[in-house]
Amino acid sequence: MSRRLTRTTVSFAAAALLGGIAAVTAPAALAVGEGPSCCANGTVNTSILHTYDSMVAELRTQAAKQPRMQLEVIGQTIKGRDIHLVKYLSDPSNPTILYLTQQHGNEQLTTEGTLEFIKSLGTGKNGDVLDGVNILIVPMLNADGAMGDVDFSLDDYVASGDRHLTRYNAARVDLNRDHVAKAQPETKALHDKVLSVYDIDYAIDLHHQGTTSRAGGELVSGSILHPTNGDVSAQTLAGSKRLGAVVYNAIQPTGWGHLGKYVGGSERTIARNGLAAEYGISTLLFEMRGMSDHENESAVLGQKSNGYLIRQTVITLTSTAQAIADGSIDTVDASFWDTLPAQRS
Ligand SMILES: [Zn+2]
Repeated sequence: MSRRLTRTTVSFAAAALLGGIAAVTAPAALAVGEGPSCCANGTVNTSILHTYDSMVAELRTQAAKQPRMQLEVIGQTIKGRDIHLVKYLSDPSNPTILYLTQQHGNEQLTTEGTLEFIKSLGTGKNGDVLDGVNILIVPMLNADGAMGDVDFSLDDYVASGDRHLTRYNAARVDLNRDHVAKAQPETKALHDKVLSVYDIDYAIDLHHQGTTSRAGGELVSGSILHPTNGDVSAQTLAGSKRLGAVVYNAIQPTGWGHLGKYVGGSERTIARNGLAAEYGISTLLFEMRGMSDHENESAVLGQKSNGYLIRQTVITLTSTAQAIADGSIDTVDASFWDTLPAQRS
């Protein structure tokens, strides 16, 4: 239980790890994205993150508690870990959104936030949203990478803790470049058992990026992008831009949230493009600031920032589910894309 990651325990643990003097001298209110970066003053300990096993245990606990939640195993990773699909399918006539986390195993706060969101769907506070939207969630697609259970060395990775986490799957393949070939068991399961099976309207692919990107001169808390592949229909692209508008309108006014436009490629091998082109799903890539582990220190963010990044995930999932459920996504103004500054490192 002590490993369960909540906003409160993360902040407390981070403060404790910083030590008394550092905690006293740290700025009283850290500006957006200004948390200590790895590894000099902000310790990064991967042991405070959910393990694959503790995540599955939490999913099972929630499935037992929540009558509207179903849990399905859609396949196995290379190392034999079951890949889970969380399903809230209230009404086939409702629109459906898919949330996908951790194609890259070292980008875990998105999964931590998604677990908080799943818990919230079992409460009166947020459960009503399920009357108007079907929700599919694939958390921690790359469980082998998340657990550092891979067939290559992670000795030069910088985080401390029980394990290292890596971008790649066990065979050192980037799953987010495998959405055309679908050659890896993780991506094959996602396509065969989720994308080809359900009539999905929207999808958010949740990632983390490096720590140094700025937009408008200010460090970003994350960056977003719609599909940019020429095979994507105008209608699908328009839906993607509206999905992004819902996220932008929820994150940007928080005071700590500051979004830039991600600068990315147009290849269909990337989920943002491939899912939109192949299935007509309106997709959004969300890259949150800072990774959980990496061989390059500058990519890893001190865990004092965990609280707001987890919160950023929860707000993203909650706001989009609500906007789809109440239909407001259909009329949201997406013109912010025209002026959203591209981020720069
Ligand atoms: Zn990623």
